Amino acid sequence: MPIIYNYHCSPSSDYKRDDSGKLNKTHSKSCDFEIIDTGPHVYLKKDGKEVALDQHDFVKDAETLTKKSFRELVNSGAIIYKKDKFCLNCLKFKEDCICENKNIIPLHELEGIKCPKCKEGKIVKTREEIS
Ligand SMILES: [Zn+2]
Ligand SMILES: [Zn+2]
Repeated sequence: MPIIYNYHCSPSSDYKRDDSGKLNKTHSKSCDFEIIDTGPHVYLKKDGKEVALDQHDFVKDAETLTKKSFRELVNSGAIIYKKDKFCLNCLKFKEDCICENKNIIPLHELEGIKCPKCKEGKIVKTREEIS
């Protein structure tokens, strides 16, 4: 079963006492920041085109297509990873970045940092299995 990761904002919360003295948890701000990480999308540069490789078996896929070793392909720059880096500036994947890639980080580094959207919450990472 493929595993995906979900990065989302966990808003900072306060506790407030209501009129009856009950303690209620209130979110100071709701934030819908959420990134689904389905793993890197791997492409092979071949004959001037970018060919999408099988996400779960991209090494074998690339070697079958080119008859070269994966290491060789990486070294020659023929392997391209996409959707594995994120721009904190415009909140898009690097490939879709509309600013000048000023603040690009690897996706996994989102975990635990301050939410780039609301600047209040914290990014938590959850693991999900999809069938
Ligand atoms: Zn950007
Ligand atoms: Zn947020």
